[in-house]
Amino acid sequence: MHTQLLSILTPMYNESDGVDHFFDTLEHCMQAVPIDYEIICVNDGSADDTLERLRRHAERNPRIRVISLTRNFGKEAAMTAALDHARGDAVLPIDADLQDPPELIGEMVEKWRTGEYEVVYAKRASRDTDSLMKRKTAHWFYRLFNKMSEIHIPENVGDFRLMDRRAVEAIKQLPEKDRFMKGLFCWPGFRHTVIEFDRQERAQGETKFNYWKLWNFALSGITSFSTFPIRIGTYLGITVSFFAFIYAVIVVIKTLTTGVDVPGYASTMVVILFLGGIQLFFLGLLGEYVGRIYKEVKNRPIYLVASKWGFEESDAS
Ligand code: UDP
Ligand code: MG
Repeated sequence: MHTQLLSILTPMYNESDGVDHFFDTLEHCMQAVPIDYEIICVNDGSADDTLERLRRHAERNPRIRVISLTRNFGKEAAMTAALDHARGDAVLPIDADLQDPPELIGEMVEKWRTGEYEVVYAKRASRDTDSLMKRKTAHWFYRLFNKMSEIHIPENVGDFRLMDRRAVEAIKQLPEKDRFMKGLFCWPGFRHTVIEFDRQERAQGETKFNYWKLWNFALSGITSFSTFPIRIGTYLGITVSFFAFIYAVIVVIKTLTTGVDVPGYASTMVVILFLGGIQLFFLGLLGEYVGRIYKEVKNRPIYLVASKWGFEESDAS
């Protein structure tokens, strides 16, 4: 019988302090999981010695494969590179900082092996390790996203999940350049189940995502999966025009019945500023979409590989 292979995918950007600990923990956990596995690490243009360390690990353990990108392309691009190179019957993205506990992999594989699910999510039971602000903003984001988009992304589920090859092949067919992985991972659907866990603090190093990056990430998520925001403009326009029309009728009647009347500087200013603001806002929003169309039509590659270790010639893709 064909032995099953699990591909564990890890993007790494300046994770030098954590690499050794990451492999120690992961390899230790995998001893208890009865499945053959490969670990695909993507060095996302790290400025420290992450790559050096990854190469040493690849030499030590033939299960470890390393792809090094030519510069920092961002986590989503690095994850795409890992997906493209994964050969497993199932794939499992996991962060390098061990915030996603590898101890869960066994349980996830077990659920997948029942044959009842193509996707096994690992959901954070609580976000205690995050600040209140991050928790709140994340919650709003999920609510907004799920209201506006036709696909549903589960709240508090990161990239840490197990996906069957069938789901992976579906995701690989999505050619977009603006890659909001959380959404893309959910796009194929399939049968899924959820297991819960408590998210740990980062084992070492610092988060690579500040609020500005998270804001852009959220914007990218919503604009990639929904055109609802620009459609609001249409309805707002209709509503405002409707009231403007009624107001115009009132003004005409008033002028006809009570004679010519000029005051109204304040109301004129309010209307002009209000409409000006709305117009600029939607122009900007339109720009977000146009910018993304621009990015798509340029059709640049999502990432560039500088070098690889641990791959045979034939699996280069
Ligand atoms: N990462 C990456 N490229 C980037 C930023 C982050 O490959 O430009 C990797 C990082 O090394 C880690 C994962 O993405 O393995 C998640 O990053 P981080 O822990 O900083 O994110 P958070 O857990 O705060 O969301
Ligand atoms: Mg993290």
